[in-house]
Amino acid sequence: MNEDLFQSLPSVNELLSNPAIVELQQQFGSGLVKQQIQQVLNNKRQQIIQGEKPTLATTDLVVAVKQQIHDKTVMSLRPVINATGVVLHTNLGRSLLSPEIKQAVNEVGFQYSNLEYNLNEKARGQRYSHVEALIRDLTGAEDALVVNNNAAAVMLVLDTLVNQKEVIVSRGELVEIGGSFRIPEIITSGGGILHEIGTTNKTHLVDYQRALSDETGAILKVHTSNYRIVGFTESVASQDLSKLAHEAQVPLIYDLGSGLLVDLSKFGLPAEPLIKEELKWYDLVTFSGDKLLGGPQAGIIAGKRDYIERLKHNQLLRALRVDKLTLAALEATLHLYENPEKVIQKIPTLRMITLPLAELQQHAQRLSSALKQIKSLKVTTLAGTSQVGGGSYPGYLLPTELVAVTPTTISATKLESKLRISDSPIIVRLEKGQVQFDVRTLQIGDDEKIVRRISQLMRS
Ligand SMILES: *Cc1c(COP(=O)(O)O)cnc(C)c1O
Repeated sequence: MNEDLFQSLPSVNELLSNPAIVELQQQFGSGLVKQQIQQVLNNKRQQIIQGEKPTLATTDLVVAVKQQIHDKTVMSLRPVINATGVVLHTNLGRSLLSPEIKQAVNEVGFQYSNLEYNLNEKARGQRYSHVEALIRDLTGAEDALVVNNNAAAVMLVLDTLVNQKEVIVSRGELVEIGGSFRIPEIITSGGGILHEIGTTNKTHLVDYQRALSDETGAILKVHTSNYRIVGFTESVASQDLSKLAHEAQVPLIYDLGSGLLVDLSKFGLPAEPLIKEELKWYDLVTFSGDKLLGGPQAGIIAGKRDYIERLKHNQLLRALRVDKLTLAALEATLHLYENPEKVIQKIPTLRMITLPLAELQQHAQRLSSALKQIKSLKVTTLAGTSQVGGGSYPGYLLPTELVAVTPTTISATKLESKLRISDSPIIVRLEKGQVQFDVRTLQIGDDEKIVRRISQLMRS
């Protein structure tokens, strides 16, 4: 019996001459195709050995080979639909770049550029020069520098300014950002010595005063970007900290984390530090390019010229330097800020955070109506909340409108996983036995894709 099945398996060569497989070889190369054929045939042999009776029709084998080649060659890093409502979702790539900057990124990626070439002087130039003036104009800083991310920015600053000396930080600000960024470790790994002051809830000016000594290398303030300390609390005003640091002649650094270039308080959002305001008091501030700024991953350092000049001479900078695609995306994003009236609409992160509730409700209604056409599905809309995410506006929830879907033939958990594990994944919320879509983070065209995918899944 087994023997018969083995006999009816085609050979590798037979399959290689199948027209559909010949086509695959032209597209993907004969090596890969042959390997996948062998794999498919091996799987069938294993099944036969285990007493199964797999289908051995050539058409089925060809489909299996095609599927395996697809799985091997499909991009691992791929777009997903973010229906979680978390605007700066670190796992889903944080900020979306503005469609307005597509051309700038494209041009620099596919053509030679003046990345490190000074066209006026016919001489070597600096890659950082392309964004320096823009950052200066937008923040009021004397000078600026850009590195890979904000973690790199903080490391470079500490490594340069705090050689073997003490860094004074409030105990209320010993922050851990997801992954491996913890302020105490960042300080010590750069050769600095952590000098903690105050308590978790209260740090006074006198705590800073007492900590200052000949051993002090810098005072570091860290924005508590992913948590809030509420209740019986106190921290020192930037103004007072500035006076103290300057009298003592120690650099005053602020790790802003996110940092805003435009004030969002008129949209009803709570205060987040404005870069321009903070630069009045701090010698250097550091912030991310892909958080509230709404650009590519980058770490921006802005502040006093002589400090920035010292950073530029640190050997470490070479290891932290940004690539030309990042610089193109960052420069183009910063140009959008030159028109403050338009910037909120042009930068997706800012637009999504400030979306009016009425607009979200209309969007939810549209999506809900479309989903109601699908059989075996209960669809409702309900009020909910979204988080900004990405270490900004901690503890603050934005009112939003959700579309909730309850399938009647499969479980919500099953639907969630089917939506997620796909070539075009859709990431949803799973709550109270419902699959929920927060429309805040849905982009143009996403609704249609969601409806198509769910109706496909509910039919199969
Ligand atoms: C997010 C954040 C960082 C890390 O920034 P990356 O750009 O993700 O490297 C550092 N410090 C603070 C306070 C942050 O919020």
